[in-house]
Amino acid sequence: MEARFHDYIHRQILPLVLLSVFPGLGYVLLGWLGGVLQPALWWYLGILGISGWGLILHRAYRRRALARWEKDRWYRLVLIYYYLLFLLWAGIFLVYAGESRAHLDYIAVFTQIGASAVASTFLYPEPRLFRPIIPFMMLLLVGFFALLGTSWGYVLSVFAFILGGVLLYGSERSHALLLKTHRQATHDLLTGLPNRQFFSDQLTQTLVDLRYQGGFSYLMLIDLDHFKTVNDSLGHEVGDGLLKEVARRLRSELPAGCLLARLGGDEFIIIGRRLPDLGTGEPKVVNLAQRLLRVLKQTYVVRGHHLYISASIGVRFIAAGERDAGKLIREADIAMYEAKALGRDGVFVFSEEVSAEVREHLRVERLLHFAIENGEIGLVFQPIYDGERRLVGAECLARWHSRELGEVSPMTFIPIAEQTGLIVELGRHILELAFQQLRQWHEAGIPLQQFSVNISIRQCMHQRFVQDVTELAQRYLPEAARRKLVFEITETVIREELNRVVSVMQKLQQLGIRFSMDDFGTGYSALGYLKRLPVQELKIDRSFVEDLHQDEQSRAMAEAILGIAGFLQLTVVAEGIENEAQFSFLRDRGCALFQGYWLGRPQSAGELEALAAASASRVEETA
Ligand code: C2E
Ligand code: MG
Ligand code: MG
Repeated sequence: MEARFHDYIHRQILPLVLLSVFPGLGYVLLGWLGGVLQPALWWYLGILGISGWGLILHRAYRRRALARWEKDRWYRLVLIYYYLLFLLWAGIFLVYAGESRAHLDYIAVFTQIGASAVASTFLYPEPRLFRPIIPFMMLLLVGFFALLGTSWGYVLSVFAFILGGVLLYGSERSHALLLKTHRQATHDLLTGLPNRQFFSDQLTQTLVDLRYQGGFSYLMLIDLDHFKTVNDSLGHEVGDGLLKEVARRLRSELPAGCLLARLGGDEFIIIGRRLPDLGTGEPKVVNLAQRLLRVLKQTYVVRGHHLYISASIGVRFIAAGERDAGKLIREADIAMYEAKALGRDGVFVFSEEVSAEVREHLRVERLLHFAIENGEIGLVFQPIYDGERRLVGAECLARWHSRELGEVSPMTFIPIAEQTGLIVELGRHILELAFQQLRQWHEAGIPLQQFSVNISIRQCMHQRFVQDVTELAQRYLPEAARRKLVFEITETVIREELNRVVSVMQKLQQLGIRFSMDDFGTGYSALGYLKRLPVQELKIDRSFVEDLHQDEQSRAMAEAILGIAGFLQLTVVAEGIENEAQFSFLRDRGCALFQGYWLGRPQSAGELEALAAASASRVEETA
């Protein structure tokens, strides 16, 4: 990539105008004294003309944002301006060099050295300027001295030649240094790709170009999946090696005209080429994204480790006339997070609907923070029955009575809390409420054998989880009450986390807590995990119970689950029982416990107490 220092070259125009217009007057005066007024005046007129043009060029650059091709045209004109200016200075040298009577030749020599020094200090950012101008100016001087024909003249000629070489060398060195610092400021050290700063400038420029040119472009944000795991488990050197290779693959796969940059960490971004229209452009861009995903997924060998990594890609198309670069990047980010949420290793194209969803998400998240402090989170309890329809326990279900949003379902706020990490605080709060309730019922002698609390895997993976539960249990629950606790784990555990989850579960089991696999049969490879996770209970997911009487498959699933559970000696709870047929079907096939609207809805603590009292008296009656 060729670095162009438009800004720098632009900034040199004014000083050169000043250095020409004012000293130029002195030359006119000297010309008058030396009897060459007329050529001096003509020359000065030329200086004024060129300088006027210089001022026009100077202004044109800043008057409005220029598109890339306009900048290129401007730059070519500025080069011509500098060439003409120095030609003029060479001109006054030629005029005065022959005037030895009035010693104007001294002035000429000084002028030429001065002009070369100015070229060397002002023009070093552009080789197309300093490389021709310095030798041209100094060779005139070399020739002048040589033509004197004296020995002094030859010596000075050689000196002038050497000085020209030194000035040129100085400019070359300054230019190389400028390139180097520019590169360091705009590129990422590790991968050699353009950095965030450079990328922002280019994006701004692309928006300007689109404004004049019409059509579309796009941003493609690429984020590696679970890169942190590589870094944490194999070390940063392996992580760095992987990033380098990712950068190399992306670079070699990209079509010409795209800009690839590294935003930081494992995030890369691409500014696409211009697309004439979206209809034909969009499928091409999505194809490109998918090709990149495939290329990134091929095995990496870094320091002897064989690694696999996938990526998630968010695409934001850019229409002509869009101006807010920051917003575009944020929206590419939103699309990328959608790709992650949809299971990673995929491409997602940003749309306004998603944006609205995300805004709603953010609102819920913000309010959820205050919900805990304001006591807007409460619990309801759904009764759990045995096959004889005797009350044996209850499951705590969280409820959010929001002042602003009304009643919010846990199906909405629990996933948001999980995504944002707030689940740790929220989960702890729910546990505290649940433990307080359990203690109260335990002390009041309410005959419940089981008290189930839902636990999110995110919450469970948090380093303070075991400590928090232990502290809360010690504060609120005597040993006998703790034995009633069942933690329901819902989410599919991913393989990397399995060992940690197992160890957390084992520690909590020492406190007397049992575990249940919630929504069993819906997650993937749940069966394999059943062998590894120390659970005592399974909950058949509501979806199987719902379809029992329409769908042969659901019946087969329910029977299979009961079979496996019997074999592994696990208690089975059927959730979502909505009619007697479902209840008796499952009971007859060995299901032990039941939950559902037909038996009892989630209800307040008081209602559940009344239910427990009624159930106890019924038991006494039958006894
Ligand atoms: P879950 O643990 O599977 O809870 C059962 C859900 O099914 C509850 O919905 C319950 O009201 C509903 N349900 C019970 N019987 C029936 C029925 O007969 N028919 C139908 N259609 N639905 C029935 P809810 O309370 O909206 O909770 C939804 C999910 O939110 C829960 O599913 C659980 O995964 C999560 N959740 C609720 N409270 C908590 C909590 O305190 N912590 C965590 N981490 N998750 C929670
Ligand atoms: Mg549950
Ligand atoms: Mg469930």
